[in-house]
Amino acid sequence: MQLVFATHNENKLREIKALLPDHLEILSLNDINCHEEIPETADTIEGNAILKVEFVTNHYGYNCFADDTGLEVNALGGAPGVYSARYAGDAKNAQANMDKLLLHLKGVEDRSARFKTAIALSLNGRKNLFLGICEGSILAIPRGQKGFGYDPVFQPLGFPQTFAEMSLADKSEIGHRGKAMRELIDYLAK
Ligand code: IMP
Repeated sequence: MQLVFATHNENKLREIKALLPDHLEILSLNDINCHEEIPETADTIEGNAILKVEFVTNHYGYNCFADDTGLEVNALGGAPGVYSARYAGDAKNAQANMDKLLLHLKGVEDRSARFKTAIALSLNGRKNLFLGICEGSILAIPRGQKGFGYDPVFQPLGFPQTFAEMSLADKSEIGHRGKAMRELIDYLAK
């Protein structure tokens, strides 16, 4: 079965291909010649995932899934949340985003946070939504070289490492996207 994964993000594509069974052929947006920026104008993580699949299905006619992820920090009232990518501006710069986050949390005691991934699926005219949540905390000093985005400052609950100090396999096992992906895979297997 062919399924489009509505992303231009090579890191996410790699993470998700590693989790999927071989009989699913995953096409990227580049593979279907979709080079435009898909609107992400919803005010929730779930809403953005749905916008993305609707865009691909309506304009390109493929079965498709899309994910949207946000980092919700309790002491910041759930920010950056749906605005995680552009937290420090339109450049979507990971270092600038982390710097801004650490600045806002300077001296703040409650460091609890969670990553939330919503995956929307549009398959043969039916829509479904799958969620994955990973609880953790925000460190004061970044650690690790792996991963991407906010990984160096996020320490998942119950683990000594940050996401950026874990292998991709370990991160997927306990992480938000891995959890949401397994929900999607279980659904597709039925
Ligand atoms: P997106 O909207 O899912 O592309 O992600 C929103 C923001 O969260 C971007 O700044 C990403 O770099 C960041 N992000 C998404 N997933 C992860 C992750 O697994 N680890 C760290 N940061 C992430």
